[in-house]
Amino acid sequence: MSLFNNNALISDSQPEARTFPAINPATGESFATYTESTPEEVDQMIQKAEKAFNSYRLKSAEARATFLERIGEEIVALGDALINLCSQETGLPVQRLVGERGRTVGQLRLFAELIREGSWVNARIDQAQPERKPLPRSDIRQMLLPLGPVGVFGASNFPFAFSVAGGDTASALAASCTVVAKAHPAHPGTSEMVGNAIIKATQATGMPEGVFSFFQGTSVEVGMAMVQHPLIKAIGFTGSYQGGTAIFAAAANRPEPIPVYAEMGSTNPVFVLPRALQERATTIAQGLAASATLGVGQFCTNPGLILGVKSPETEAFIEETGTHFKAAKAGTMLTPGIKKAYDSGLERLRAVDGVTLVAQGAAPEGACSGTAYFLQAPAHTLLNHPELSEEVFGPSSLAVMAADKAELLQIAENLHGHLTATIHATPADLQEYSDLIRILERKVGRILFNGFPTGVEVSPAMFHGGPFPATSDSRSTSVGTGAIYRFARPVCYQDFPAPALPEALQNNNPLNIWRLVDGQFTKDKLST
Ligand code: NAP
Repeated sequence: MSLFNNNALISDSQPEARTFPAINPATGESFATYTESTPEEVDQMIQKAEKAFNSYRLKSAEARATFLERIGEEIVALGDALINLCSQETGLPVQRLVGERGRTVGQLRLFAELIREGSWVNARIDQAQPERKPLPRSDIRQMLLPLGPVGVFGASNFPFAFSVAGGDTASALAASCTVVAKAHPAHPGTSEMVGNAIIKATQATGMPEGVFSFFQGTSVEVGMAMVQHPLIKAIGFTGSYQGGTAIFAAAANRPEPIPVYAEMGSTNPVFVLPRALQERATTIAQGLAASATLGVGQFCTNPGLILGVKSPETEAFIEETGTHFKAAKAGTMLTPGIKKAYDSGLERLRAVDGVTLVAQGAAPEGACSGTAYFLQAPAHTLLNHPELSEEVFGPSSLAVMAADKAELLQIAENLHGHLTATIHATPADLQEYSDLIRILERKVGRILFNGFPTGVEVSPAMFHGGPFPATSDSRSTSVGTGAIYRFARPVCYQDFPAPALPEALQNNNPLNIWRLVDGQFTKDKLST
């Protein structure tokens, strides 16, 4: 007898299968048991994804857009049952999860809009010049085509927006790729409900079987079976540095290496410049502490490093920020593993000579509860211990005061890659520190002015990525419509007869998309 009516939960008829529990991090109780898929089952899903790819990629943009929208509708139709189970599995509050579900559905709609409009395929046409001297020019046309089946690793910290129906899945399906997703073992039930909703949408919109599949797993082998499968053509991943780099290395060592878009750690430095502090120290202190402790600090854009120039104002600002950290409540972290990593990361920071405690928040209220910490270190300590700028995933930040502008710029130069950097400044600060902006442009993917890095808008111009080790490919975003470009590659057609060309490249522009024709953007039809 099956404990639950679905394929991944444990059943009495599969006693030998490897199982793992769903754990409520708030109570430590396990309340359901799941079965890990075998590498053979993963292989079958990937074979189906390959078969489905050949028909899915030929579906019209309208059909794919309808499919994406239907996925959103099926997720919403799961109602409170989904939200409540997710809250039980992750410890995340209901209100946050309702917001995240809205973002996930909005993301699917945004990709639907993008592909309906159609110009994302980057069609380029250089018309033939048969009379050109000394040599005639061929007719050359180029557009983006999907890579093939994509493997997605769901993230622990966004059980909807970066999980089985998250940005990677939405952008890959939008690009006409098929998807096999590994559910994160921290929220197996949520993943199963959402995964089944996608499969329902597949059936309802007449998409080929295998266009999307998901599997459960809590071992390296099962995830690696996907990464190493010859039919998988790209990987999307959000998680730890260790996981991301292991997957990247495995993908690079395949007989056919494939791209891995891994989002890993980021400390998101915040520069608080002198005149901004004179003008609005209190507002910045409140905002920073709120951003650092939001969601128990479990955001990839969490501001973990606060940088300023030594002065009485900066000292007062650090003290004031500390009062807000002190007032922060402890909160349930996503998993016991993440809580353990947070504690050991803090221990590692605090063991460095020169690092001192400014303030600590309310005491933990359970085994998986995370307390906010605000630490401080002199600039030379940070310069001598670059590991201090590595991500400690949780509600902690480290403040560092440079002796002067030169030392602040030296710290900036020493930073490795991050997702974001923030500058709090007045126009006069910006003028004085213009070289800071030039340095940060080489270090991060998004620079914020007088804001706070948590809260990533899903929109066409958003860029959520950054140089290594923030991600494995600094050219690519995991948020916003730009994510579609991860899963497509250019194909060029030379001197092709008109009927054999894809619609996007045909002379009469039947899709009415923007194209670069002989170097000019236009929607014009071409004479035949
Ligand atoms: P994780 O340990 O990297 O796991 C993410 C996913 O990758 C899981 O499905 C995991 O599977 C799989 N995985 C990990 N290592 C693998 C390997 N070597 N081979 C194949 N698959 C592998 O991340 P997490 O569980 O979400 O959290 C752990 C830490 O990651 C956190 O403490 C934090 O430091 C970091 N994190 C960072 C961000 C960010 O956005 N910056 C987000 C989330 C987490 P299994 O669990 O089945 O092994």
